[in-house]
Amino acid sequence: MNEQGLADLHTHTTASDGLNSPGDNVRIAREKGLSAVAITDHDTAAGIDEALAAGEELGITVVPGVEISTRAEDTEIHVLGYFINHRDPLLLERLQGLRETRGRRNEAILANLQQLGVLLTMEDVLNELGRELKEGESLGRPHIAAAMAAKGYAADIRDAFNRYLAEGAPAYAPAARISPLEAFAWIREAGGVPVIAHPGIYGNDDLVLKLIESGRPGGIEVYHSDHSPEDERRYGEWAERFGLIATGGSDYHGVRNGSAFHGDLGGRTVSMQVVCQLKEV
Ligand SMILES: [Zn+2]
Ligand SMILES: [Zn+2]
Repeated sequence: MNEQGLADLHTHTTASDGLNSPGDNVRIAREKGLSAVAITDHDTAAGIDEALAAGEELGITVVPGVEISTRAEDTEIHVLGYFINHRDPLLLERLQGLRETRGRRNEAILANLQQLGVLLTMEDVLNELGRELKEGESLGRPHIAAAMAAKGYAADIRDAFNRYLAEGAPAYAPAARISPLEAFAWIREAGGVPVIAHPGIYGNDDLVLKLIESGRPGGIEVYHSDHSPEDERRYGEWAERFGLIATGGSDYHGVRNGSAFHGDLGGRTVSMQVVCQLKEV
């Protein structure tokens, strides 16, 4: 592993709701001159093998990861897991259970949309995706939003979220979720390091502090495309105060119509020392 250079520790691929294949993310990371990239798809490890193979070919470190959606005090909290054993049967079974729950939630959202005059079926959503779902891939709100935009129900994905799909919007349906502490345990049991993702997004620092104190995660995502400089300063301080590894990444989901949702790959990075720290835990 190249111990010099930079790493983007938060990227999504077509294995969840990203637009680029796992191999593409690795190639883009390489083009941007990064030394490492993590694949952190929502509730699935399905993209990791392809990314590892591409990393091997291109001489860039691929960090096997996952981003698990959880819920605490009515807030959706994302938990990143790094250097998981992505073939661990128990972990895969657990993630599969989460994706099945997500499927039921999608149906609830479509039913809500129908009430609002947005006539969309799961088939429409799959058609808009333009291909079969691969094993381990998960559909989510971004896919529904894309189908809404394609059918003229919304101007674009952001508009569909703002008017229909975001938490608090009329078609939103909550998902039955595990707690963040359960996700920490799942990740540890699969040999990985649990990290609280993008704490600045939740608007609830008290809850994040509680999770740090009760769950003792291995790290906190200090640098993220949706964090302000003030967020990064504050969470950087917390990382020091609580002895947490300070991770960071773009949360890259691909580029659509010239703009990257969340941020461009490589837009937020950490030094390779952070990758070494995560690996050594
Ligand atoms: Zn997230
Ligand atoms: Zn993410």
